[in-house]
Amino acid sequence: MKYLIWLVIALAVVVWFQRTKKSMTAGAASSPDREGARRNPFARKRDEPRQQIEAMVQCAHCGIHFPVSEAVVHASGALYCSEEHRRLASF
Ligand SMILES: [Zn+2]
Repeated sequence: MKYLIWLVIALAVVVWFQRTKKSMTAGAASSPDREGARRNPFARKRDEPRQQIEAMVQCAHCGIHFPVSEAVVHASGALYCSEEHRRLASF
């Protein structure tokens, strides 16, 4: 019974994939403008999640906002924009 459910899901995915493939090639064949219009939404979709995931934090020294991936963390848990500001704050 478990395998039957997975088989149905797999079939649905294959059918959906073939349909999107077909509609994409049909759009490309009919006009190049449509192809461009179809490509742009995909490009946007790929870039948007990355920007949303990146959280912004504030430097405890100068107050500037920057991506959390660039944060320099102090032993106390405070976040700084650079190694310089972390060093200045510790004095
Ligand atoms: Zn700073």
